[in-house]
This record gives sequence, structure tokens and C-alpha cells, in this order.
Amino acid sequence: NQDKPVRVRFAPSPTGMLHIGGARTAIYNWAFARATGGTFVLRIEDTDPERSTEENTQIILRALRWLGLDWDEGPEVGGPCGPYFQTQRTETYEAALEKLIEAGAAYPCFCSKETLDAKREAAEKTEGGYAGYDRTCRSVPAEEAAARIAAGEPHVWRLKVPEDHGPVTFQDAVYGDMSFPIDVMDDMILRRTDGTFTYNYAVVCDDVNMGITHVIRGDDHLSNTPRQVLVYEALGAEVPLFAHLSMILGADGKKLSKRHGATNVEEYRDRGYLPDALVNFLALLGWSLDGETTIIPPAELCQHFSLDRITKKHSIFDEKKLDWM
Ligand code: GLU
Repeated sequence: NQDKPVRVRFAPSPTGMLHIGGARTAIYNWAFARATGGTFVLRIEDTDPERSTEENTQIILRALRWLGLDWDEGPEVGGPCGPYFQTQRTETYEAALEKLIEAGAAYPCFCSKETLDAKREAAEKTEGGYAGYDRTCRSVPAEEAAARIAAGEPHVWRLKVPEDHGPVTFQDAVYGDMSFPIDVMDDMILRRTDGTFTYNYAVVCDDVNMGITHVIRGDDHLSNTPRQVLVYEALGAEVPLFAHLSMILGADGKKLSKRHGATNVEEYRDRGYLPDALVNFLALLGWSLDGETTIIPPAELCQHFSLDRITKKHSIFDEKKLDWM
């Protein structure tokens, strides 16, 4: 991955406005692409129909444009790019599932929600606790499974985690070499009974399909990563280098929220802040040029940004400091 031209993406879910944390993730991806002569892809992850809105998509695009974060591929209404919307990419997920099925890396599961809930409840009462789906349907013979599917029996598709798989490992530019025990990895659902695809599966299909080399995102996704790595492996795809960014906290050390003041880019724009000042401020919230520089114009950021100077420490967002910019 290190030798390939850099391809990164920002993948917001349009379930709200562009939050300060999301903006920082976008800035890092953009600056990294610019610093390496790579490509910055924008992908709108709008698969949650209840929480995604077209209005939020527009607000996010507007905020990114205002910040000056130009993307090379992605949704550009009326423009030359993209569009990349997850809801328009179902064929990619179908095709990848076909591939997994053919390779014997996915299997249909006919267990009903009631059966699974009952098993989970029973397991939770035992000493060992619930250890994930018990893989009952792995042993349904292929012919029987095909007949049940043909007869219209409801089923999900699950990933078949290889029996002999050791710990799941991946490299993270911020966290270093990561390793997760395999025995906590469920045979995750790829496609639900209603035909929709799960988040962890769709993200990997997209990242593989778009040739993403580096995944820079919030560390709230860290626990998803080992599951996603298993999907990369099953697809025979190269696992990207990850960079999980530590959460931005308020001045009181608590998770940044409304209590701490403005948390959306839009609010800062409306209050008259300059976009370059906000980009400067957010860039240095978790990354540093040399540990000293406090003023860094976007053009310089785009020259010097590197993953090895991202800090693992939580960053404190103090609105008052922004006023000095
Ligand atoms: N759509 C996810 C989010 O907004 C990001 C997923 C990712 O970057 O892998 O949190």
C-alpha cells in the first residue's frame, strides 16, 4: 500500500450537519491527499433511511466547500464528480457477495430473530456468556440451502470466518500494530433478510472498489475495524493502512457536545469565522507540524501534512482559543 498512489476518502453519514470532529477527519484526508499527490474521494453514506436526509447531504457539501476542501471524486450536484452515494451502489455490494458465495466465504442463515434472541438469552445466563452466533447454519448442506432460498424462506447472508484464522491484525498509523483475538469475531451478517447490506460490509466493498489505500477516520470506528479486515481478507483484497483519530473532547474533558458551544461548521460560518482559521485550528487539534507552529495556512498544510505526526492523545476543543486565530 505504501508504494501505491494515495487514495483516501471522507465518508460522512448525512444524519446531521458537519460536526467539528467530522470536519477534522475531512481535513486530514484532504491534506494527506494533497501532500502526497493522491486522490481525495467523497462518499455519502446514506444507507440509514430513517436518519439520512437530502438536506443534511447538502449542508455537508456546502460546509466542505466553504472550508475549501475540494474533492476529486464524489457527489457534485451538477458537476463533473461522482456521484458516490451508498444507496446507489447496491450492485457493488451484490457483486462482492456473489464473489464471496462462490468462494465459499459466505453462507445463508435461516435462523429467525426469535431463535437467535432465545439462544442469546440462554447463553447470557451461562458462565461463558454469549459468544456470538453459534454457526448452526454453516452445516446446512448447499443443496438444501438452495432449495430453501428458492422456496422463498427468509434468510440473511453471513461471513464464514475461516476456522483456522489466527488473531485479526492490521496496521494503524496512530495506534501501531493492532491485534484482536479471533474468538470474539462473529460470523457477521453481510446482507439482511430484507436484502439491505450491513454497514461494516458496505464500507469495505466501497473502499475496495474505490481502491482506498489509507482509511483515516474517528477512533469510534476502531472496534469495527477487525470485522472489516475479515471482509477484506475474504474478498482477497489488500487491507489499507488505517489511521484512527482520537476523539475531540470539550474543555472539561467530556465528549464534545452542544454544552460546549458550537459544534457544527455551519455555526462557525454564521458567526463570521474565516474558513482558513477554522481549518488551521482543526488541523492542529491532533496533528502538529513541529510541536510549535500555531499558524499554518491551508496551502502549507497541504504541503506538510503527514500521518506520523497525528497524536494519539485526546484533543481538547476550546472555542476561546479559536477566537485568537
Ligand atoms: N459513515 C461513517 C461515519 O460517518 C464513517 C465510516 C468510515 O469512515 O469508515 O461515522
